[in-house]
Amino acid sequence: MWYGAIYYPEHWPEERWATDARLMREAGFNVVRLGEFAWAKMEPEEDRFDFDWLDRAIGILQQEGISVLLGTSTAGPPAWLVNADDPARDCRQVYESGLRWQFGGRSMCCVNHPRFIERSGRIAGALGGHFAGHPAVIGFQIDNEVGMYGTRCYCDICHQKFRDWMRGKYGSINAVNERLGTIFGGGLFRDYQDIPIPRIGQDLHSPGLILDSQRFFSASNAAYLRLQAETLRATGVRTPITTNVCHMASGWSGLDEQALFQPMDVAGWDCYPQQFAVNPEPATMGFLHTMARAYKQKPYWMLEQQSGGPFGMAADDPRRIRLWTWQSIAHGAEMILYFRWRTCRFGGEQYWRGILDHDGRLNARYEIIARTGAEIRRLGENLTGITRRRDAAILVDYDTCQSFHLNHSNSRINYRNQAEACFTALQRLGVGADVVFEPPDPGRYRLLVAPALRLMDPAWAERLRRFVEQGGILVVTICTASLNRDHVAPAEPVPWQLTEVFGVRRVEWSNLSGVAAPPKERLGEDASAWNHLQCAGTVPVVAAEGPLAGRYAADTWCDHLEVEGVEVEVLARFAEGSPAGGAPAVTCRRFGSGRAVYVAASMEAKLNERLMEWLLGRPAAVPRAESDRVEIVPAEQNLRRLYFILNHGATAARVALPPGARDLLNGTPLTGEMNLGAYDVGIIVCD
Ligand SMILES: [Zn+2]
Repeated sequence: MWYGAIYYPEHWPEERWATDARLMREAGFNVVRLGEFAWAKMEPEEDRFDFDWLDRAIGILQQEGISVLLGTSTAGPPAWLVNADDPARDCRQVYESGLRWQFGGRSMCCVNHPRFIERSGRIAGALGGHFAGHPAVIGFQIDNEVGMYGTRCYCDICHQKFRDWMRGKYGSINAVNERLGTIFGGGLFRDYQDIPIPRIGQDLHSPGLILDSQRFFSASNAAYLRLQAETLRATGVRTPITTNVCHMASGWSGLDEQALFQPMDVAGWDCYPQQFAVNPEPATMGFLHTMARAYKQKPYWMLEQQSGGPFGMAADDPRRIRLWTWQSIAHGAEMILYFRWRTCRFGGEQYWRGILDHDGRLNARYEIIARTGAEIRRLGENLTGITRRRDAAILVDYDTCQSFHLNHSNSRINYRNQAEACFTALQRLGVGADVVFEPPDPGRYRLLVAPALRLMDPAWAERLRRFVEQGGILVVTICTASLNRDHVAPAEPVPWQLTEVFGVRRVEWSNLSGVAAPPKERLGEDASAWNHLQCAGTVPVVAAEGPLAGRYAADTWCDHLEVEGVEVEVLARFAEGSPAGGAPAVTCRRFGSGRAVYVAASMEAKLNERLMEWLLGRPAAVPRAESDRVEIVPAEQNLRRLYFILNHGATAARVALPPGARDLLNGTPLTGEMNLGAYDVGIIVCD
């Protein structure tokens, strides 16, 4: 296990470096990341490279037994590159407003600009040439949080490359017009020169064109990173190469991250729970960790782990640093790098807390990080060779994600929230879930959830059909298969190519964001549900009997379904008086030897949990917590079961344990239950 922090020796006097290295060793660190913004120091003038200072810093760290993950520095382009006198060499990104990003800040260059591409390759190659084979350098990180300041660029070069990309994809301008339906609004293109990179803020742009442009930018960023990876390899680098993606509060980087990691040896991401909420839901990070494990289908590196509140955050309880660290490890992290070693005294992030504060003195954050490091070392081989087998998976589709994210119609639908709700239900059940990026082979999982899978194509429909036919349980939710990959609605029944599998047809839909309770005279026998909810934008769902028996709330969006055929079981209905009044809200059809379930609205957690429990059964002999602030992450090591038990709550929580459970972390004997304090962690093993 690699354990350390992000360190910027260039921010501190050289006399301090030895003190920092000693304090890091005393905290149990064995790695730091260096250099991701230091291009101006590594190449102060074009083609004049200076790695002496970096050699000295690495040497001092090495003496304390600390290795280095080296950044290629391209996230901090230097003035000589950015402030070019010649406009043709100006490689700054152009934003939707038409303005170019000013020099300053960071990451302001266009990944399609030939000069930026060339100079990025040059610095990566020079670093690789100097440090490949260096005993203290254990790997390279390419760039930093690529796309963080906007993935979309509107410069002339991007326009030209996008037009070439469209030509390559469609073959003729007529095909572009026909497939994307540009006749809407009279927007027919005469030739490729007519095609703009659509501005997201401009009303009624072609959704298909918007999606294509985002696919183009994703491919551009992937190509930019790939070039650096290939350059490093060509200079003799044999250590792992990675990069760090960053989801932040929006939930998505705008990039197809799985494609981004293809040329990398290991996936990495940056985890700032408090960018999502002061008290983030356990599943929010759990789901993103699971995504990270899915990129390369193996453990990953936590390349920035929150070690103090981001800007403007109230001082936080340092015990949560330990909690979030163990959460990362529970889900599959094999490197923890805290951001950052010491709060910077200057610059745009001077209030972004590091471990140490501006004054560099030891504090509570340092103490808890040192204690956590000692725990990790003590557990040693108990943490190696862990696998995470899951019976269920969540299907995450990049196209669908971008479709919801970029198109203003239905903007209330947050794709990450839709996926997270399904993940939460499976995690609470004790089953957990993997993330997959395409329909899995039949038999690979017992259950597959495809949340809000709006975009569909015949090949995926066939694979989903086969999954069910051969015994799998497929659960879909709102908007399923209602558009093709060109973002065009099929002129055939929806869910497109899957109506037979589900035995239902969508006949209408309702965005629930503005729904108010109907007038009294329209209310039927379910009037009490409306009164009970008293909340615009929420509709009641009722199951009079059966496995879901009860009354629930649904929000965001609902599909009005009509059952086609007798063998479809209606498990719940929308209450009379609601927009889809009386229509099926949850249906299940046996198809082949599997089952196909349609959930026609964003349902409250209780319904999702009951549904998953009915479909999968409740696993026996797993830990159970009353509080939904307790996250339980199952894992296996050889033949024994491990459970990471993480109390995200500010109060103590009781967890019922299976017989024979032992506590690995605290060594205390267990008798049927565990009492976890606020923000505390337990790791139990069942032999
Ligand atoms: Zn550009």
